[in-house]
Amino acid sequence: MDLNNFCHELPKVELHAHLNGSLSRSTMLHLKRYYADSGLEDKTNAFFDEFQIGAGDCRNLSDCFQVFSIAHSLTSTPEALAMATTLTLQEFHSDGCCYIELRSTPRNTQYMTKEQYVDTIVHCMQKSSLHLSMLSRFIISINRSYPVAEAEAIAELAIASYKKYPDVVVGLELSGEPTIGKFQDFVPALTRAREAGLKITLHCGEVCNPEEIIEMLKFKPDRIGHGTCIHPRFGGTNDTWSALCASKIPVEVCLTSNVNTKSTPDYDSHHFKDLYEAGVPVIICTDDKGVFTTSLSNEYRICAETFNLDQSRVARLSLDACQHIFADVQKTVVNKVQSFIDKYNI
Ligand code: 5GP
Repeated sequence: MDLNNFCHELPKVELHAHLNGSLSRSTMLHLKRYYADSGLEDKTNAFFDEFQIGAGDCRNLSDCFQVFSIAHSLTSTPEALAMATTLTLQEFHSDGCCYIELRSTPRNTQYMTKEQYVDTIVHCMQKSSLHLSMLSRFIISINRSYPVAEAEAIAELAIASYKKYPDVVVGLELSGEPTIGKFQDFVPALTRAREAGLKITLHCGEVCNPEEIIEMLKFKPDRIGHGTCIHPRFGGTNDTWSALCASKIPVEVCLTSNVNTKSTPDYDSHHFKDLYEAGVPVIICTDDKGVFTTSLSNEYRICAETFNLDQSRVARLSLDACQHIFADVQKTVVNKVQSFIDKYNI
């Protein structure tokens, strides 16, 4: 099997995908059609050219936070949100994903409350499990650029949703513009969620901020996202790097996202290599497959080609990722990946 097919066929797990950043061109066209047919204003003329941040784009990580409002204007009703969720789940499934933890920030809109936002995504996941051979779970997001009171409210909503839908809602995460907000301010909300049984993942080290990285690692999240500026090569310190290596907290790595936002100069110098060689668990993820025009199989292929990994090592990346999923279905997911490995004797 050539590498493209191999990366596509390999059962994979997606653990870091933001719903509104994952909308493909085709999904956005469906949503635009829905808004036009329903006589709703989608409030955006800005479209793909602005939404998608490709390799040669001059925008950076900070600019990238502007583009999500384009997707948000297309997911403001329960119907549109359901369409966006269902189509996105189908695309991950078609790409060979066998387990996904999709994340999203609940929003009050003109047409729905935050509670309805959560209910809508949960119901789509429940329905999709009836016809897709992919398990899907929901991580609720806190946006760190919103006031702390909003984060507290989202944490309470996450706890209530976890009690209501323990088979679907699995975690709480902190994301949003990393230069805004102080991590310590979110600790009480995150702690309450953790005590209620939710798993926690934090966007950590997206920008150079060694103090915050140390605070986050001390909090002992179940996973972290990106981890770009933890190694001294990228503005981290010996302390941040050794704290991560000692903690062995798994890192959700998003290669194309980091390269396209210029958080990393290029694929060759991506910190995947440092993490992999140091034995820190790494999970290959897409982040925002719509914004960065990628797919999970594409990320696996790029990783294999850039770091010269043979098929056995690539398959092992997927198998190892199964150990870090938040739902209590590790065995089922491991079996799917292992069966593929056994079938092709990799
Ligand atoms: P949503 O939560 O609305 O489904 O997805 C979009 C949101 O995810 C953005 O508004 C932002 O808060 C968060 N997000 C998406 N990509 C990134 C990223 O690369 N870094 C950070 N820190 N947050 C992100």
